[in-house]
Amino acid sequence: MATLGKYEYTNSLKADGHRRILFPSEVSGKYQSLKKIVHPLMILNFLILPFLYVGEDRLILFDIQHRSFFLFGFSFNAQDIYLIFFLVTGVAFSLFFITALVGRIFCGWACPQTVFLEGIYRRVERWIEGSQAAFFKRHTQKDKLYYRNLIIKSLAYVLISAILAHFIVLYFVQLNVYYEMWTVDVSTHPVVFGWIVFLTLLLTFNYGWFREQLCLIICPYGRLQSVLTDDDSLVIGYDPMRGEPRGKAKDQNRGDCIDCGRCVQVCPTGIDIRNGLQMECIGCANCIDACDEIMDKVGQSKGLIRYDSYNGLVHQPKRILRPRIFVYAVLLVIGAIVSTTMVSKRTNFEANMLRSQGSPYTFSQSDIQNQFEIHLFNKDRFERTYVIIPQPTESVVFTIPIAKITIPKLGDQRIPVFVSMPKEKYRQSFPIEVLVRDEGSQEEIVAKSTFLGPR
Ligand code: SF4
Ligand code: SF4
Repeated sequence: MATLGKYEYTNSLKADGHRRILFPSEVSGKYQSLKKIVHPLMILNFLILPFLYVGEDRLILFDIQHRSFFLFGFSFNAQDIYLIFFLVTGVAFSLFFITALVGRIFCGWACPQTVFLEGIYRRVERWIEGSQAAFFKRHTQKDKLYYRNLIIKSLAYVLISAILAHFIVLYFVQLNVYYEMWTVDVSTHPVVFGWIVFLTLLLTFNYGWFREQLCLIICPYGRLQSVLTDDDSLVIGYDPMRGEPRGKAKDQNRGDCIDCGRCVQVCPTGIDIRNGLQMECIGCANCIDACDEIMDKVGQSKGLIRYDSYNGLVHQPKRILRPRIFVYAVLLVIGAIVSTTMVSKRTNFEANMLRSQGSPYTFSQSDIQNQFEIHLFNKDRFERTYVIIPQPTESVVFTIPIAKITIPKLGDQRIPVFVSMPKEKYRQSFPIEVLVRDEGSQEEIVAKSTFLGPR
């Protein structure tokens, strides 16, 4: 069993490998005050985004049922799924860049796991349980009050999770679908209802019990931290040159750390920041406020634990601009240029010429016939009208029953196309083309296929 001063642990694991349930103490200070503004803003943002519109369309909507996606005024459908690659790489490069500069600032200040846990669930827990010390005592003794509080807390968690689950689902369904589900009958949209139930259970489990384990076991970002940061990245750290040797307040030859343990008590992942930068540190800044409070009390200057780079913490020269930052910035810029180009070059519709099922060709008395379908996708946010124009090929006759069609936004249609030619003119298969023009924008796409006949 690792023994660190008076602590017999270094994180949320016991020496025997079992989970140690954490009871992080409350703390106050400048970063906590800032969090009281930032976290509610993040939560408010999450709650109102599903109700914001650009024109007639939602600002953000991933309508899986209709395979339609709306992002900040752009609309996409299933045909644009390849663009996800650029979105994911863009987010990854941004995270690389931000992490190299300011470490895990995202985890402590903007990650939904931290924001909802600290901003909602932990607050509710403290209202019900009182101080963490009292809660810890009850948890150990398992008295009557413990079980009563457990029931009240669990009900509160389920209620909060149900509310959050409804809002999460709103990012994936049209609002009218959601309203219909509740005003007409839940059975009109059983899948949506099923997701709400599933998410309610998942969120209750996660925020009620699993908590910091998600950051420690499941989220890959913390593990990437060691490769993304360097000695000049901004992290939360302990100044060992100032703090060591730690000792009791009355000790004469001690450093600034009085080994009070407050920084460990307030840590939501249960680590001791004095052991250096650790994968478990989510950058929440609780330990900074806790230590500053102690430093105030013992009349020493604040900042024994602080936002600083490793070089800063060991009193070495610091650099902001360094090769890693340039590399990540260049990757970010290249990624942004490529993504913007791909989105801007994207046509507002797609047209594919597909051979109809069944025999590839048929005969009439004098002709060979091929049957196709033009599969037209309107990827725009508006209704569009398309004109279908066959491209002349010698001896070939096109018959297109619907040569002009209007398709609603993000809709698709299949239009039959019959192609024939006299038997005696046919020698071998050859390409055929149909031009599809968007009447509004005059954008054109040539849909191609092959005319087939007997060898
Ligand atoms: S070490 Fe400090 S910043 Fe890191 S998770 Fe613990 S309390 Fe938060
Ligand atoms: S809170 Fe500060 S003084 Fe107390 S143990 Fe942590 S680093 Fe040392």
